[in-house]
Amino acid sequence: MDNHFLLRFENLERVYKVGDSEVRALGGITHSIAEGDIVAIMGPSGSGKSTLMNIIGCLDKPTSGKYFLEGEDISTFDKNRLARIRNSKIGFVFQSFNLLSRTTALENVELPLLYSNIPGKKVREMAYRSLEKVGLKGREMHKTNQISGGEMQRVAIARALVNEPSLILADEPTGNLDTTTGNEIMEVFKLLNKENKKTIILVTHDPEVAVVARKRIYIRDGLIEKVEE
Ligand code: ADP
Ligand code: MG
Repeated sequence: MDNHFLLRFENLERVYKVGDSEVRALGGITHSIAEGDIVAIMGPSGSGKSTLMNIIGCLDKPTSGKYFLEGEDISTFDKNRLARIRNSKIGFVFQSFNLLSRTTALENVELPLLYSNIPGKKVREMAYRSLEKVGLKGREMHKTNQISGGEMQRVAIARALVNEPSLILADEPTGNLDTTTGNEIMEVFKLLNKENKKTIILVTHDPEVAVVARKRIYIRDGLIEKVEE
């Protein structure tokens, strides 16, 4: 396998069993994503975007097919190994931010490291640095109920970055934001991609958001319909 691909899917399938029937959410996807890329996944509701993101994020496993992450076929990994990969290599950003309420930006960002072996002082330093990367220097002690939606999403991105993942996954990261704020969040992703070499994969319905990506993958009925680069 080519090493400069961060991810590769080979005939990836995901079939959900619902009672006696089966839903084929992914019907055999083959594709590679290069390290350092920004990719937008687009497609109508129910087309399989979240199913694909869950597999990429090691939250779910394919029914069949292979998923290589950094050259390792992780479709064979058990739950514990998947959790370890998830915690060390992947940062998640959600549409609804998923922050702890009435808690400081700093504490939210420290959260993923609280159960690590990293000493508290170092955790704090890492969280400060992460907040600086998303433009929130000086706002560390602001509580999540005292900041705007755009700032909340920045905190969430800082939290996703704090353990230095190689891959950032974002499901509709601008879905709860107005256009201007959404564009600012996309600028944050662009900067992280450029300065910190993060690979970013995001799901979006918004063509304006998707143009920021270097590659757009359109999914329909669990298959790749087209790819724009
Ligand atoms: P999207 O994110 O593009 O809206 P999803 O990946 O959520 O699409 O869903 C793809 C298909 O799989 C849909 O038909 C959906 O109903 C079905 N599906 C998703 N998750 C489950 C599940 N946990 N159990 C059964 N069917 C599911
Ligand atoms: Mg979805």
